[in-house]
Amino acid sequence: MTEFEPLVDSFGRRHTSLRISVTDRCNIRCFYCMPDENIRFKPQDELLTFEEIERFTRIVAKMGVSKLRITGGEPLVRSNLSYLIERLVAIPGIVDVALTTNGILLADHVAALKNAGLHRLNISLDGLTEETFERIARRSGLDRVLAGIFKAQEIGFEKIRLNAVSIKGITENEVIPLGEFARQHDLELRFIEFMPLDAENQWQSTQVLCGEEIRAQLEETFGPLLPSPRGDLSQPSMDFHFADGLGRIGFINPVSQPFCSNCNRLRITAEGAVRNCLFSLKEWSVRSLLRDLATDDEIADVVRDAVRAKKTGHGIDSPDFEKPDLAMYQIGG
Ligand code: SAM
Ligand code: SF4
Repeated sequence: MTEFEPLVDSFGRRHTSLRISVTDRCNIRCFYCMPDENIRFKPQDELLTFEEIERFTRIVAKMGVSKLRITGGEPLVRSNLSYLIERLVAIPGIVDVALTTNGILLADHVAALKNAGLHRLNISLDGLTEETFERIARRSGLDRVLAGIFKAQEIGFEKIRLNAVSIKGITENEVIPLGEFARQHDLELRFIEFMPLDAENQWQSTQVLCGEEIRAQLEETFGPLLPSPRGDLSQPSMDFHFADGLGRIGFINPVSQPFCSNCNRLRITAEGAVRNCLFSLKEWSVRSLLRDLATDDEIADVVRDAVRAKKTGHGIDSPDFEKPDLAMYQIGG
C-alpha cells in the first residue's frame, strides 16, 4: 500500500500509528489535562473538518500509517463522529481504528460507532468511587461512564481497555477495586503514570504513582502477574495476566520506564498541527495546506519534516526538560 517513502525518523523508527484529535473541548475537567475555568476553546472554523482529516489520513496511509486512534479533548462531544469513523475505516491501508473516550456520552453513541466500523474502544476510568471521579474530573459522571462501558459490551465491542491515570495521594485506594472490576467484567486494565501535561503546571514527580508500586499492590491481593507475550514492540504498555487466567493488566510507565526507543506514533491536533511527540516543543501545521489545496506531495513533505525532527526521547527525567506550552487536551492524548 505504501506509495510514498515510509515515515522513518533519524533514529530508524518507522511511524505507522497516528493519533487524531478531533476537538479540544470536553464535558469534564480532569485536573491532569485541562484547566477548570476560563478555557478558550478553538473556534469551530479553526478545527480541521472531517473532509480535511480524511484527506490527511489518506496521505499518511500512503506513507505506511496503518493504525489510527481518535482522541481529544473528548471526541464524543464532536457531532456526528461516527461519520468520520466510517470514512476513516474505509481508507486503503488503515487496518485498525480505535477511540479513546471518557465514556460520559458513550451509551448514547456506541451503537452508531459500532455500525460505522470502529474496531476498538479505550475508556478512561481512574477509579470506582464518585468521590475520586469528582476529585479528578471536577464534575460528576461516574454512573454514566459505567453505563457506557456496559452498553459497549452489550452491543459487542470486545477487548475494551480501561485507562486509569495513577496519582499519588488520590488513586492508591482505587487500584484493587479497579483490578476486581476488570477481572469480573473481562476488561483489560491499563495504569498510566501521571505525565507533566496538566494545564495548571502543578505536576510534580512526587505525584507519580509508579507502575511498579501498583503491580506490587495487585500481586499482594490477586497473586503473581505473569508477563504476556509482547507481539508489537512499539506499543507503550507492558502487559501481564494473572496466574488464574482472570484479567489482563498493562502498565504504561512513561515517567519511570520511558518507552521512546520503540515509538512509532505521530499526532495531529484538532486544528491541524502535526506533532512528533506529546512533549514536542514544535509543531508543523498542515491546515492551511489542506485549505489552500496544496498537493499530496507538499503535505507529505511537511509530515516527513516533522518525523525527521523527532528527538530520541521525551526527556522528562532530564534536568533540562521543558514542558510544552500546550496541555494534554490541546494536543490530544
Ligand atoms: N477525553 C478522552 C479521555 O479522557 O479518554 C480522550 C482524551 S484524554 C486526553 C486521553 C487519555 O489521556 C485519557 O486516558 C486520560 O486519562 C489521559 N491523560 C490525560 N492527561 C494525562 C496526564 N497528564 N498524564 C497521563 N495521562 C493523561
Ligand atoms: Fe477531558 Fe479526557 Fe482531558 Fe479528562 S482527560 S479533561 S476527559 S480530555
